[in-house]
Amino acid sequence: MHRFRRPTLLLAAALVALAPVSLEAQVAELLPDSLKPLRVVDPEWIDKSANACTDFFQYANGGWLAHDTIPAAYASSGIGRDMGDRNERVVRSVLDDALARRASLPAGNTTHKLGTFYASCMDSAGTERAGLDPIRPWLEGIDSVTTRARLVPEIATLQTLGVNVVFRYAPDVDAHDAAHYMAWLYQGGLGLPDRDYYTRPGAAADSTRQAYLAHLARLFGLANESPEQAAAHAEAVMALETAMADASLTRVEQRDPAATDHPMPLDHLDSLAPDISWAAYFRTAGLSKPPARVNVAEPAFVRRVDSLISAVPLDTWRAYLRAHTLATAAPWLSTPFVQEQFQFTSSFTGARALLPRWKRCLRETDGDLGEALGEAYVAKTFPPAARARARAVIDDIRAAFGERLRHLAWMSDVTRAQALDKLAKMGEKVGYPDTWLDYSKLDVSDGPFVLNVGRANAFEWQRVANRPGTPVDTTEWGITVPTVNAYYDPSKNEMVFPAGALVPQTFDPTADDGANYGSLGGSWAGHELTHGFDDEGRHYDAEGNLRDWWTPTDSAHFTEQANRVVAQFDGYLQVDTTHVNGELTLGENIADYGGVLTAYDALQRALERDGRPGLIDGYTPEQRFFLGYAQSWRIHNRPERLRTRVTVDPHAPEPWRVNGPLSNVPAFAKAFGCKPGDPMVRPADSVAHIW
Ligand SMILES: [Zn+2]
Repeated sequence: MHRFRRPTLLLAAALVALAPVSLEAQVAELLPDSLKPLRVVDPEWIDKSANACTDFFQYANGGWLAHDTIPAAYASSGIGRDMGDRNERVVRSVLDDALARRASLPAGNTTHKLGTFYASCMDSAGTERAGLDPIRPWLEGIDSVTTRARLVPEIATLQTLGVNVVFRYAPDVDAHDAAHYMAWLYQGGLGLPDRDYYTRPGAAADSTRQAYLAHLARLFGLANESPEQAAAHAEAVMALETAMADASLTRVEQRDPAATDHPMPLDHLDSLAPDISWAAYFRTAGLSKPPARVNVAEPAFVRRVDSLISAVPLDTWRAYLRAHTLATAAPWLSTPFVQEQFQFTSSFTGARALLPRWKRCLRETDGDLGEALGEAYVAKTFPPAARARARAVIDDIRAAFGERLRHLAWMSDVTRAQALDKLAKMGEKVGYPDTWLDYSKLDVSDGPFVLNVGRANAFEWQRVANRPGTPVDTTEWGITVPTVNAYYDPSKNEMVFPAGALVPQTFDPTADDGANYGSLGGSWAGHELTHGFDDEGRHYDAEGNLRDWWTPTDSAHFTEQANRVVAQFDGYLQVDTTHVNGELTLGENIADYGGVLTAYDALQRALERDGRPGLIDGYTPEQRFFLGYAQSWRIHNRPERLRTRVTVDPHAPEPWRVNGPLSNVPAFAKAFGCKPGDPMVRPADSVAHIW
C-alpha cells in the first residue's frame, strides 16, 4: 500500500493530533466491548442501487458510505481506521500486561521499559504540572548558540533528539553498492508539510502561510516571548524556511532516482558547503569518524543551507531551532502546547478533536518501542496457519507476475531475463521479524514523557549512526508489526507485510479465494510487487543497485505507456476544482494497475487448481475478486486531508484507486457485463499496457 525508497513517515503518522485528557476521562475512555468483525467482502457495504459499470467504488462501498461519518478525532474513516482500532485493542492489552507486570521485573528488562514508557505518557497530571520545564535544557542549548561555530553542533544535537532541523542525515543503502550502507544527506527542516506551501502563489497558499506565521508566534509566546518579539521571530523564521524551500526539490523531481544520486568523497562535501564544519557535525551526531563518502541527495539545497548558515543572523537561527523544538515537543507538554500544535496540524487533516490520550500514547509507544511489543502482539493475533496462508497467496502472486513477464509482447528478451531475475530475487517478509530489536541500551525514566521520547530518538539515532560502510542488515523491518500498511524497498528488492495488515478486512484465512485474491492479492501483494517495476522501482536491479538494465526500446515503451497513466489520473478530480497530480501518483497508479492484473491471473490459477466454488452472497469468484479489491479502498476523507494529500501524498484518492485501474481491465468489464461507452470501460486507445 505504501512504498518508500528509504524510510519515510506516512502522512497519517506525521500529522497525528496529540493532547492530554484528564485521568478521569481516561478511565471513562474504555475500549468498546466488541467491534463488529470485519469481512474481506461485506455484502452490507454494497450499494445495489448504483450501477457497477458507472462507478464501481460507489457500487462496492456506497452502502457503507451512506451510513458512515468520520469521527471527530480522525481525518478519514474506513478500512484503515477499522483495522487500526482492532489492532490498537490488542496493543493496548499488551501494554496493560506490561504495566501490570513491570513492578515484578528488573529495571533493565524490556517489558519493564515498555510499561514505564507508556505509563510516563499516560501521566497527564504530571505533564500539566511541568509545563515547559522538561525541555528547558534543550532550549538552553539553543540559547548557547552565540557563535557560528556552535550552530552546526547544536543542529546535530537537536536532530539526534528527533527535531527535524535544516537537513536530514541518514545511513541508508548505497545506491550503487546495495550490500553496504552509506551516509546520505537529505533536504529537510521545513515546518509546513511541503516546500510547495512556501512557493505556491494564490490566496489559499497565502492564508496557509499566514496561519503558519500566527502559529509560530503563538509557540514563541507560550515560551514566554513578548508579542512583538514573537511576531518578529515568526517573520524571520518564515523567511529562512522560504529560502530553504526555494532550493528544495519538488516531490515529483525526487521521484527520479538519478536526481538524488550524488555520491561524493567527504572533501567534496567540504567544498560544496565550506561554511559548515562537517567534522564537528558528524562528531556531535555520534559518528566515531566522519564517513569517507556521502550521497548528497539535493546538492543545491546543501549549497543554500551553507550560505544561510553564514549569512542569516544568529538570533534568527536560534528562533528557528526553538520553533522546531517547541513544535516537536508540544504534543507531550502541557495543554496549551498540545492545543496549539493540534490547531495547526488539524488545518491539514480536518480533525476536529484530539484522539484520546491512551491512543496517542499507544501510537507513540509503538512508534518508539514497536519491536518490544511486537512479539506479544503476534502471539495474540497471528497464528502460524494465518502466516502460511498469507504466504501462499503472496507466492501465487509472484508466480502470476512471472507468467505475465514471460508473455509480455512489448518486452525484449534481454530486458525480460533481467526482470525475471529481479522477480526471482525479490525478498518477502511476512508477519513479523525473525529477530527482535535489542533495547538494552535504551534508558527509560518514570518521566517527564517528552524526555523519554527524546531518549528513544537518540537510541535509534545511535543504533544506526555509524552504519556507513558496514554491510546492510537484511533482517531489519521498516515498520512495526501492528501497522496497517506494507511497503516495497527497491534498495533491498523486498516487500514487507506486517501482521497488522494480514487480518480482516485485508485478509481472512477462512475467506474464499475470490475475496482474498482481490484484497490481499491485488491491493497489497500485487501492488507491492509491481512497485519493483514502476517508474521508480524499475531503475533498480535484482540486487537493489541503481543501474539501467533496460534496452532503450523497452525503456521508451515503458515511458510512453506510463504517460498514458499520468494522463488518465490527471483527468480525475481530487477535491474542490483541483485535479489529481498524475506525475506524483504515477508509481502508485502503476502498482495498483499491475496489482489488479496480476492478482486476477493468480485467482484464475487458484480456481483451476482448487476448483470453482458456487456463488457466494450471489457473486461469482471473479465478481468477488473485484469487490474485494474495491472494498479494500473503503475510505472517505475530510476535504482538508484531500487538499493536503494532493501536495504531499503519492497515492490518488481511493475512489480513483478503484475506478482508475478497473476501468482499464477487460476482465472487470466481463465480470459485471459492462459495455464500451460505460464510464467503467475506458476507450481501448487510451488504455496503458505495461504489466
Ligand atoms: Zn504503493
